[in-house]
Amino acid sequence: MKVVRTREELRAALAAVDGSLGLVPTMGWLHDGHRSLMRRARAENATTIATIFVNPRQFNEAADFQRYPRNEARDLAICEEEGIDLVFAPTVDEVYPPGFDTTVSVGALARPLEGAARPGHFDGVATVVAILFSLIGADRAYFGQKDAQQVMVIGQMARDLAIPTEVIACPTVREPDGLALSSRNVHLSPAERAAAPVLRRALLAARERWERGERSGDGLRAVMAETIAAEPLATPAYVSVADGRTLAELERVPDGRPALLSLAVRFGATRLIDNEPIG
Ligand code: AMP
Repeated sequence: MKVVRTREELRAALAAVDGSLGLVPTMGWLHDGHRSLMRRARAENATTIATIFVNPRQFNEAADFQRYPRNEARDLAICEEEGIDLVFAPTVDEVYPPGFDTTVSVGALARPLEGAARPGHFDGVATVVAILFSLIGADRAYFGQKDAQQVMVIGQMARDLAIPTEVIACPTVREPDGLALSSRNVHLSPAERAAAPVLRRALLAARERWERGERSGDGLRAVMAETIAAEPLATPAYVSVADGRTLAELERVPDGRPALLSLAVRFGATRLIDNEPIG
């Protein structure tokens, strides 16, 4: 496995690559969710590249950026274990050189949900992913369904900017109790960790109600809100029943069209998200 840190080193390493190239972009603090993306990338491509970059532009709170967990040595060992061929782990200046002054801003898809809760977040995501896609020129790039809106925003960005990298969404990897793996889980206190599966329970309760015929958006949102309200350590940020293609909030869930149940919940200073596609 080769580790490169500059655009120059990256270009040189990529010049030696033959066959299809699969990319897994990450912010490090790697877990089994990231590993699953790496395995899929390996299965489908001759060469795999992972990036490790905690992107300051996608954090709407400076404190959240500061406390984001980092451990590069451990991350590199995991990449090696997963058979990654090349790791790009740049500095902030390498990604955004002095004078950098462009923002990639996706429209309607980026506005609701995480976009509304975290102003500027998706501009930061779209901008860094556009740079990585341009620098790397991968055939395919792998993202987690856990961040459902993110993978949709990136797909729209790549289509609109005519970037030929195929954007692929991969299933959410969970703890045995249903909590979606996330680098942020490390910040949960033991009591918060014990409470955190309430996100999954709320989504599954709404899914079950939908399976039994409930089609009212308000009805399904209420099921999620009530489940979260029953957990004293959990403070909901939003619960959503949205169109699976546009993410517009739904009054009624139409049969035969995909919809997305999603939510964001705070436990103290830690904010977790999860979602469940239906339809
Ligand atoms: P991050 O390092 O948190 O920016 O995540 C890097 C990639 O891993 C993103 O595409 C995430 O959606 C994906 N990812 C994060 N958590 C999970 C998970 N539990 N299951 C699957 N993919 C995940």
